[in-house]
Amino acid sequence: MRIGMGYDIHRLIEGRKLVLGGVRVEFTMGLLGHSDGDVLLHAVIDACLGAAGLGDIGELFPDTDSKYKDADSADLLREALRRVKDAGFGVHNLDCIIYAEKPKLGPLKGRIRARLAEILAVDEAQINVKAKTMEGLGRIGEQEAIAAHTVVLLEGQ
Ligand code: MG
Repeated sequence: MRIGMGYDIHRLIEGRKLVLGGVRVEFTMGLLGHSDGDVLLHAVIDACLGAAGLGDIGELFPDTDSKYKDADSADLLREALRRVKDAGFGVHNLDCIIYAEKPKLGPLKGRIRARLAEILAVDEAQINVKAKTMEGLGRIGEQEAIAAHTVVLLEGQ
């Protein structure tokens, strides 16, 4: 068994679509980023890479590389997982927290969980998604950003 943690934060701006955990979310703003800005999938990638001892998302997919401009983060996660699998590991379970003041993510947690299970090719029972507001405090609480924390447990295959 190998454990890994991931964290990411992206700025919320007008004129971008919002994608969280591979799910398109209807909202007036979206996350700024070189790729699609999917803060949750980026944190999942870092947790998986970390658990397998494979570095971090910036080493694998540099934001200086035009290949990853507006990239679908689901594709990046699948590539990271391919490397994790090559290193001899598979996902045992994943737990996530999304920190967002708005939009309200409670009703979307089930869809995000299902999408994560689909991308990771595991059962939904192996995935958990939690959503928190920041009670109006700080930059996230003021709707300037969305962040995500993840923990993954990998098992040797
Ligand atoms: Mg990121």
